[in-house]
Parts: sequence; structure tokens; C-alpha cells
Amino acid sequence: MQPQHVAELKTLEHQLGRALGRCIAEFGLIEPNDRIMVCLSGGKDSYTLLTLLEQFRRHAPFEFELLAVHLDQGQPGYDGEPLRAWLEEQRYPHRILREDTYSVVVDKVEPGKTYCSLCSRLRRGVLYNAAEALGCTKIALGHHRDDAIETLLLNLVYNGAMASMPAKLVSRDKRNVVIRPLLLAAEANIARYAELRAFPILPCNLCGSQEQLKRKQVKALLNDLERFAPLARASMLSAMGNLKPAHLLDRDLVRALGGVATGDLGAEGLEPVREAKAELAIGGRRRLPLMS
Ligand code: SF4
Repeated sequence: MQPQHVAELKTLEHQLGRALGRCIAEFGLIEPNDRIMVCLSGGKDSYTLLTLLEQFRRHAPFEFELLAVHLDQGQPGYDGEPLRAWLEEQRYPHRILREDTYSVVVDKVEPGKTYCSLCSRLRRGVLYNAAEALGCTKIALGHHRDDAIETLLLNLVYNGAMASMPAKLVSRDKRNVVIRPLLLAAEANIARYAELRAFPILPCNLCGSQEQLKRKQVKALLNDLERFAPLARASMLSAMGNLKPAHLLDRDLVRALGGVATGDLGAEGLEPVREAKAELAIGGRRRLPLMS
């Protein structure tokens, strides 16, 4: 690796590690003696999650365990060998599960409809059951800042709800706790980190599918928006942690707050936006803000 790439990798690792540590601390994601099942799909996000969680574990002031779990869903042409070899080389405790959800999806989904919704529901079911069987107290997923923002926009535009992804979620039946430690980390930083680390990425178009079109469109919209509002993503992430409920239209919430809106909105005062502005002012290659 070139010396400048070594330095870049170090900087990225530091930034991403801080974003992960902050998310874990702010949302109480990990507790002593947790056994965490890290879902490893073979994409850049899950490799990054596992690597950073392991670094966090080594320096944490308390004990907890990680168990990497990969699910082979039986898609045509699947080859999980590079992932398995990497796990062994890195000496991560791991399990590789096999469950042919692909055939179920192909059988159940009507022609012309997309597979992803049923496919991910089946995958979730298998992983939730496995977590219990393997004695895991939590399930860690690799969703990041951009997933959270895209979900927020999709809910706003298509579902009439102001909701994104929680950093910590207890399943309805209370059997599982899902955590998302990368939720404050920018996708662009994760992508570059994964590239520099040369993770053996498994191709994600194995099923010949149909990545959700709406999510793609929202991503394109955000890229357009950032052409004239470069801090749009950082600001949106800040907004999710800086609600002004009385300035919204949730009647129950407004009533509970006494029915009166008070205070200033003051976007200039939001810390992550100020941080991001300062970083842009430094110039050079844009370093994405830590909260982003
Ligand atoms: S892209 Fe393929 S593997 Fe991924 S959720 Fe959709 S159908 Fe399933």
C-alpha cells in the first residue's frame, strides 16, 4: 500500500471508529457480557462493521463477545468461499448458515414484482432464530447514516410518517435486540475504507434482482441536493437528533407539550452542522463530518 493510502486508511479508521463509539455510547448499544451476532452479508458495510466492532471490543473497558454470522440464501452462482477464507484468516469466531430462501422467494413472488421485501423478511427470520439458538444477546446490522436518511425520506414521501431507523430496536416478540452501531457513519467513508482494506466483497446482484428502485431514486435526489447544499446529509442527520416536536403537526405530541411552540430553530447553532462547515472551510479533499 502507498504511504498516502496508509495515512488515509488511518484517518478513516479513526473517524469511523469515533462515529461507531459515539453511537454505541449515546444509544447504549453494548453492555457488559453481551454476545453480539454480527450479520455479515459480504458487502462493504458489514465487513466494516465487524472490523470496527472488533477494534472497539479490544479497547472496551468491559468484556463482550462477537460472533460473525453469514447466511447463504441459495442464490444461483453464490460463492461464499472468499468470505469464509477471510473470516478464518482474521480469526473471527463465525458461523456460516445455509437456508434456501431464494427458492421460496422465486416461488411466492408474482412475476414482475420485486424480490427484496420477501427475501429480506425471510433472511431476518432465519437470523433472528439463529441469534437465539446461538445464545446471542444482540444482533448488529451494518446500516449507516445514508440508509437512515434515505429511509427518513422514503417514509416522508411514500408513507406519510416521520420515521427513520432506530439505533437500537427490540423485536415485537421481545426475543431479539437489533443494534446499528454504524448509524452515524457516512457511506462514502465506509466505501473508501472497505476499498483500502480490500475486503473480499461478495457481489450483491446474485439473485438478478431489482435493488429497490425507490431507494435508488432517493439516493440520486440526495446527490443532486448536495451539489448546491453540500451539508444536506450532515444537516439531515442532525435534524433526526434535534426534533422540535411543537413545530410539527403531531396533535397528541403538541397537546402533551402544552399546545404552544416556543424557542428558535437556529440551524446555525447545530453542532454537527457547525463542525461540517468548519471542515469544509479547511479546504482540500472534503473530509466528511464525524456525525455523517
Ligand atoms: S437484492 Fe437479492 S439478496 Fe438482496 S434483498 Fe433483494 S432479493 Fe434478496
